[in-house]
Amino acid sequence: MKLQLNIQPLNTWLDTKNEPLIISGPCSAETEEQLLTTAHLLAATGKVSVLRAGIWKPRTRPGEFEGIGSIGLEWLKRAKLETGLPTAVEVANAKHVEEALAAGVDILWIGARSTVNPFCVQEIADALRGVDVPVLVKNPVNPDLQLWIGALERLNGAGITKLGAIHRGFSSFEKSSFRNEPMWELAIQLKTLCPDLPIINDPSHICGNRELIPYISQKALDLDMQGLMIESHVDPSVAWTDAKQQVTPAALAELAERLTVREPES
Ligand code: PEP
Ligand code: MN
Repeated sequence: MKLQLNIQPLNTWLDTKNEPLIISGPCSAETEEQLLTTAHLLAATGKVSVLRAGIWKPRTRPGEFEGIGSIGLEWLKRAKLETGLPTAVEVANAKHVEEALAAGVDILWIGARSTVNPFCVQEIADALRGVDVPVLVKNPVNPDLQLWIGALERLNGAGITKLGAIHRGFSSFEKSSFRNEPMWELAIQLKTLCPDLPIINDPSHICGNRELIPYISQKALDLDMQGLMIESHVDPSVAWTDAKQQVTPAALAELAERLTVREPES
């Protein structure tokens, strides 16, 4: 049974001329200088199509940095104005949606810890009713395809047609070289159920370290995924969150250069 989603092709709502399509930026917006410097360096590579930054961070345990909050939206606005890059932010509730839209954020994404919660996804979907904004839905933390599909359906049901999925891997109790197991078959199943749905791979959260990112990125492209979301930071060694998996803008450019995108079958 195919999934009945009413969606618009990716190239109608995102500039897809850069191949591979790369969304990049820091795990977290930390300071205005960090965000702007990173954004300018990314823009200068010519490889990045969208600037991402976490403003509200879902931390597993309390007491850690939980995001810079609304002020970060002002920095993103400035980064967009100065670099021309469209921006993307994670939203986890109706207030985030309202603030992100008011600040002119171009693309919203739903994080893995929100996709697991239908109440949370429905709240976001309801806040988006009548709004024409692209939304990317990360897979839930656990390998449950139905939850991922359910979140996409809730958004689509609220009228969001600029829709995509982000494959960021699945948490596992087993020890592994990955932070989150790729379990490629789930992303492949989603694509089979809904061939029109763009799927973007997030090698940063799959790998949890910089070293494996090139391998996972190439594998995602070989599986015909439409793009990559890769965390980058002007100085990853001092990043406030996800330091081990962020790459410098220069490393990102080198990675993008080395990736090969398959020609579409004619
Ligand atoms: C993030 O993108 O920084 C993030 C928190 O990701 P995830 O929801 O995949 O854990
Ligand atoms: Mn992160």
